Amino acid sequence: MSDKAPLLERGEAHIKEWCLLNDIHPPVVVEHWQGRCDFGVCAYYRNGQISIWPNMCAAIGRTGRQWSYPGYTVDRTPFGVLAHELGHHVDHAHGPRGGELSHLWRPQDPEPLTGYCPNDNEWFAELFRLYVTNPDLLLHVRPVIWRLMVDKWKYSELRDWRQVLAGADRQIKAAENKIRRAA
Ligand SMILES: [Zn+2]
Repeated sequence: MSDKAPLLERGEAHIKEWCLLNDIHPPVVVEHWQGRCDFGVCAYYRNGQISIWPNMCAAIGRTGRQWSYPGYTVDRTPFGVLAHELGHHVDHAHGPRGGELSHLWRPQDPEPLTGYCPNDNEWFAELFRLYVTNPDLLLHVRPVIWRLMVDKWKYSELRDWRQVLAGADRQIKAAENKIRRAA
C-alpha cells in the first residue's frame, strides 16, 4: 500500500464534504495506480471528472525543497491535488482557455500563490486549493482573494491555520513569514 493512499482518501472525503456544503455536484474521481499520465502531470480535470495518478503526486515534504503538506500554501500531495482540481470544476474550466472566475478575479490580486502558474486557470486553482484545505491561512496571506471566495462559497475546514498544520513545524514557520510579509 502506497503512502499516497491515505492522502488520496482524505482528499476525496474533503472535496465531497465541501461540495455537499456548497450544493455543488462533486466531480467523479478516477484513480490510476498503475502507469503514468500521457500529459506528464499527476492529475487533470475534464468534463466533471478528475483523473489522478497518486504515485506521481508529491509526498509530504520534510526536507530540502520539498514543501508539500496538506493545508499548506504548497501542497502537491494527492490531498492538495484533488482540491486544486476541484478548483477547475467550480471554475468551469475546459482546457487552458476555459475558466470563468479565474479571468474575472485575477486582475484584482494577480500574484501567483505558488510557482505553478502557467495561466489564469492555474492561478485560480492554486488559490482555491488553499481556500478549500486551509481557508484561515488564505485569509492571512491573501485577504483580497479570500473575500471574493467567501462571498461565493462556504468552507468546511473551520480550524485556525495553525491547527490545520499541527505537527508541521517547518511549514508553520514558513507560513508565519508569509503572513508577516502579507500584513
Ligand atoms: Zn490545474
